[in-house]
Amino acid sequence: MFCEEPQDREQVLRELNELLETDTTYSSGHPVASMSTIPHRLGVEVFTRTLEKNAGRLHTFQGSWQVEQEVLRMIGNLLNLDGTPYGTTTSGGTESNILAVLSAREKFRRRVEKPEIIAPKTAHSSIDKAGWLLGVRVRRARVDKAFRAVPSAIEKRINENTVGIVLTAGTTYLGQIDPIEEVAEIARDHRLPLHVDAAFGGFVIPFLKDIGRGDYKFAFEVDGVTSVSVDPHKMGLAPIPAGVILFRNKSDVTRITKCVPYLRGRSSVQTSILGTRPAAPILATWAIMKHLGRKGYREIVATCMKRTDHVIHRIQQNPLLTTPIKPVMNIVGIQSREVSLDHIVEKMEARGWRMATSPFPPTLRLVVMPHVTEGAINAFFNDLDDISTTIPAS
Ligand code: PLP
Repeated sequence: MFCEEPQDREQVLRELNELLETDTTYSSGHPVASMSTIPHRLGVEVFTRTLEKNAGRLHTFQGSWQVEQEVLRMIGNLLNLDGTPYGTTTSGGTESNILAVLSAREKFRRRVEKPEIIAPKTAHSSIDKAGWLLGVRVRRARVDKAFRAVPSAIEKRINENTVGIVLTAGTTYLGQIDPIEEVAEIARDHRLPLHVDAAFGGFVIPFLKDIGRGDYKFAFEVDGVTSVSVDPHKMGLAPIPAGVILFRNKSDVTRITKCVPYLRGRSSVQTSILGTRPAAPILATWAIMKHLGRKGYREIVATCMKRTDHVIHRIQQNPLLTTPIKPVMNIVGIQSREVSLDHIVEKMEARGWRMATSPFPPTLRLVVMPHVTEGAINAFFNDLDDISTTIPAS
């Protein structure tokens, strides 16, 4: 209930602390399936100092506007975009994907009455949300045995209603990278926009090559890629909510930019879905990217990949566990040969783990974020080994 009488500050804080006791902390290492992590401490400092700033009012907060533009340029550079980056910061991968689908729909608004987009089965569920909100039918295409999009299956789904294609660089369930180059060729042939959702992979894939873990072309270096989304609040170590979407061409952004008549200057045109929104995560992203540099991120990715190898080692040591693919990045799906995933989840949760399962393929999901230490991995597998080898009495 909303109380009538004011409450003492100490009492309010005590009550809040009690309520938050049931939250898991990243520092415990327990959230083993989270795509966010402990934000970088410089980001936290900047965030807490800039809470009043409104990225929906960049006419008022002109310095914040400059910083936002530099974040877009830095991310454009990360994604191999030559020239001016067109786009916006967002609240994260969901908003970015909605904007990508909106831009595709608007491109064909005069010609296509019942718009459709094509995405492989593995694309994030926010694509379905975008389709639902925007009246765009999402046509899912099959994937191969390695859970990558099949270019011919995508091409087969193209018809006169198709307004765009969405692929993923770093799928939510297995961290897989779709064959961006092959599908980009199809998109070019059919003159369709191609959006690459690199919400997770954007801050991972560029560094894999440097550490000898694979050279993937996934962003604007691929001719035919129209837009790419990346979330600093995932592997970018920024505080939530921090997302970015960039487009290659200005016209793709212009068609999703709307006027806000009562605001002036820069504030009077907005590309993001949100109006009032925090500038703090954008400013924090700027500070973290500058402070860590490519070198810092490369080291973080190297550490996460080393720990991912340890996860694989622990899986291989248990004959009742397996993985559907060799991990490409720091996301691992775990399959159980004997005990059902539901049973494992129930027992692991009872031991304090906060678990996640993926529906396709059915797996336990592990995301080896920087807070997931080797100690946390060992503690997790000690429990998992125990539970996955104890077949429940039926
Ligand atoms: N895209 C991908 C590939 C993701 O993995 C996720 C979230 O896990 C999203 C989009 C949605 O991001 P957010 O939760 O920041 O909206």
